[in-house]
Amino acid sequence: MTTLTGVKMAVRVPFVDLKFEYELLRKEGLEDNIVQVLAKAHYIEGPNVAAFEKAFAEYCSTKYCIAVDNGTCAIQLAMIALGIGAGDEVIVPAHTFIATAAGVAMANATPVFVDADPEHWQLDPEQIEARISPRTKAVIAVHLYGQPAKIERIAEICKKHGLLLIEDSAQAHGAHVNGRRIGSFGEISCFSFYPAKNLGAFGDGGGMTTNNTDIDTQLRQLRNHGRINKYEHGFVGYNYRMDEMQGLVLLTKLRHLDKWNEARRKVAATYREKLNDLPVFIPQEIAGTDPVYHLFPVACERRDDLAIHLAENHIDSGVHYPLPLHLQPAFKHLGYQQGEFPTSERIGREELSLPIYPFMTEEQVDHVCEATRSFFTK
Ligand SMILES: *Cc1c(COP(=O)(O)O)cnc(C)c1O
Repeated sequence: MTTLTGVKMAVRVPFVDLKFEYELLRKEGLEDNIVQVLAKAHYIEGPNVAAFEKAFAEYCSTKYCIAVDNGTCAIQLAMIALGIGAGDEVIVPAHTFIATAAGVAMANATPVFVDADPEHWQLDPEQIEARISPRTKAVIAVHLYGQPAKIERIAEICKKHGLLLIEDSAQAHGAHVNGRRIGSFGEISCFSFYPAKNLGAFGDGGGMTTNNTDIDTQLRQLRNHGRINKYEHGFVGYNYRMDEMQGLVLLTKLRHLDKWNEARRKVAATYREKLNDLPVFIPQEIAGTDPVYHLFPVACERRDDLAIHLAENHIDSGVHYPLPLHLQPAFKHLGYQQGEFPTSERIGREELSLPIYPFMTEEQVDHVCEATRSFFTK
């Protein structure tokens, strides 16, 4: 960028840019629509959440969507609705955000960790069977970074061993596997609508999709005090309802999601092309999948120095995730050891997430590529 006086201005690249997105939605009249929701004073259990649920279920090609407060409680409720609880084990990746395993623990079940595969950094299906015990009830396949997991292979293993399959789709709204959207492969698929996710609310939000009518009923009761009707409660449930304003925001943003995911893919394609000859490893796309690039992870032995170099060039970056779940203090009681999951541990040491969001300009993408190049040539 050059000013009128010819002074070269630094290109800044934030890690995500939600303000640009907000401005666009504001111009489309979202603020007026929010004010209308507020003026009606119907804040929960109203038409906007219902309309969003219907639209999102259609989007995922599932029969039902049940909206909740956040993605973590979505995983917890998925466990409970499937009858998974104390004494049960659930297989989850060691390399994921803590919420995947937290949702399991919140249902009083035990997460059992499995390493990532070194090429794609997703739950390695070939390491699942070694971790199955008589207590194993389910596998949670996480579509990490917006890259679909090896879901068809995982589904095969689940079928063979009579295990339930749950998807953690919190990072992959709209991604496809062989032409089919994620969110419809598991018995239940859990989503987060945290603001920075590909589909994000103006606050916390979450949801679950399913094709099973009984599970739908169960999840609706679970999120709303175990209610059968206004005054009758079948069991002690939770208060995990989504509010009307978030319903409206998500319904509005859903119309943009495919376009915004396409824009993310374009940024990712440029990164892949321009960083191709540099000594950074970029996890491969899994054949037959159409990822949505929630994040753009690379690996580099001098990860921390690269992050500093990018920061000096006004580029924000992130680390997802430095400490794998089996080494988290929160799961110390499960007795895992350092060295047990070498791929997850190496990703923890070497991964750096480059900025990626739908409204990155070409200039910003080029600046990230040039700054990354200059790190290796300086
Ligand atoms: C964000 C996220 C969640 C949970 O989301 P919250 O809405 O923040 O509770 C679960 N799993 C993964 C992989 C996530 O990235």
